[in-house]
Amino acid sequence: MLRLTTLLFLATLSAVASDKPNVLIIVADDLGYQDVGFQGSKEIPTPHLDRLAASGVRCTNGYVSHPFCSPTRAGIMTGRYQHRFGHENNPVWLPEDTKQGLPPDQITLPQLMQKAGYATGAVGKWHLGAHPQFHPMNRGFEEYFGALGGGHIYFPDQKAGAEYTIPLNRNGMDEPQKKYLTEQFGDEASAYIQRHAGQEKPWLLYLAFNAPHTPLQAPEAWLEKLAHITDKNRRTYAAMICALDAAVGQVLDQLDSTKQRENTLIFFISDNGGPNLSGKGAGNFTDNSPLRGAKGMVYEGGMRVPFLVSWPAKLRPGTYDQPVIALDILPTAIALAGGEVPQDRVIDGVNLIPYLSGEKADAPHERLFWRSQGPLGNHAVRQGNWKLVHLHGDKPELYDLGKDIGETKNLVTEKPEIVAQLTAAITKWEKGTIPPVFDGPKQGKAQGKKKAKK
Ligand code: CA
Repeated sequence: MLRLTTLLFLATLSAVASDKPNVLIIVADDLGYQDVGFQGSKEIPTPHLDRLAASGVRCTNGYVSHPFCSPTRAGIMTGRYQHRFGHENNPVWLPEDTKQGLPPDQITLPQLMQKAGYATGAVGKWHLGAHPQFHPMNRGFEEYFGALGGGHIYFPDQKAGAEYTIPLNRNGMDEPQKKYLTEQFGDEASAYIQRHAGQEKPWLLYLAFNAPHTPLQAPEAWLEKLAHITDKNRRTYAAMICALDAAVGQVLDQLDSTKQRENTLIFFISDNGGPNLSGKGAGNFTDNSPLRGAKGMVYEGGMRVPFLVSWPAKLRPGTYDQPVIALDILPTAIALAGGEVPQDRVIDGVNLIPYLSGEKADAPHERLFWRSQGPLGNHAVRQGNWKLVHLHGDKPELYDLGKDIGETKNLVTEKPEIVAQLTAAITKWEKGTIPPVFDGPKQGKAQGKKKAKK
């Protein structure tokens, strides 16, 4: 009798364990807000991302916590505004430097998922530090394949600076690049999903493409299919997105064929808005319309991004219009894994599932904050539809995003009470932050030169 009870108990446990969803986080790099089909692009075909969108919830007010690469990733990995621990700049590629990276005292998403019984893997761009202490496998991932820096050449024989030509890395060892990098990341992610199908543990896979970040390099086959785009740079950028879309399609197909798609929670985001790639301020190979601004700015074009959440087993397809942020990925994943978020620190993200499923009708966040270039830099806060932008050295600007998504009509003189309220909110939020603990690439490069001269 006792034995039967034990067996029943074990059977229940096993059923619970197998009910836990896999979690797949797909990150694009520097993708323009308008540059995928599900966001409205008529120019760039993205059938696979569109089918992912159709299978889930498109968050129309989806944000990342920074207008550029590494800090956003630090936010994803910790569920915290990265300003709380000084990760406000891109680390410089200095493998001997123990400061330039995600601080080791920060607890990461994969560490928490491992604790909750998940297998953890990462494929793609890392950009959270070059020193071995920052390696993905020292930060909670059991497996890694990818490019450890802030970007990488796409074809094996291309020339570029040191960071973009470092050897690819598999589980701590160098490995040669075999093919167009986006395709290779697609292969690797697909292989991970196949390898973990039918295993006892559910899995977390962080799939961070470096596409369509520069350098602008695309396969000829995609370029040929995009002959309708006359600008050569825009066509190359678009072809890089098509390759990314195909890689996502390969991953979705693998989930389907291994019967894991239904119970896999997928996030898709870009790490920041599309940059102004012309460098001249006039043209722009990316399209962030209808948003104002681009990568690096705290206008919407800097950090409002394509944002999908798909979990066919539990979430009905549709759109969700309340503001959400990539910081929410960690608490959402941990809640579904049955794990616990750290209690000894502030976690800024929230579990989105009750909101996306309609169980909770209020907004997940009262306010969202952004800060770039330190306490004396550029700030923004969003509360409901109000957005206050305060650029360093300038007067504050106030926009009503409900009526003016393009931030064209500054209402700062009409609504002084809102300006005062939001300014006070920023001041209060700042008290939970610290100045950057490492410099951005400009100062870092200068330091690097000094070192080289010695
Ligand atoms: Ca980026």
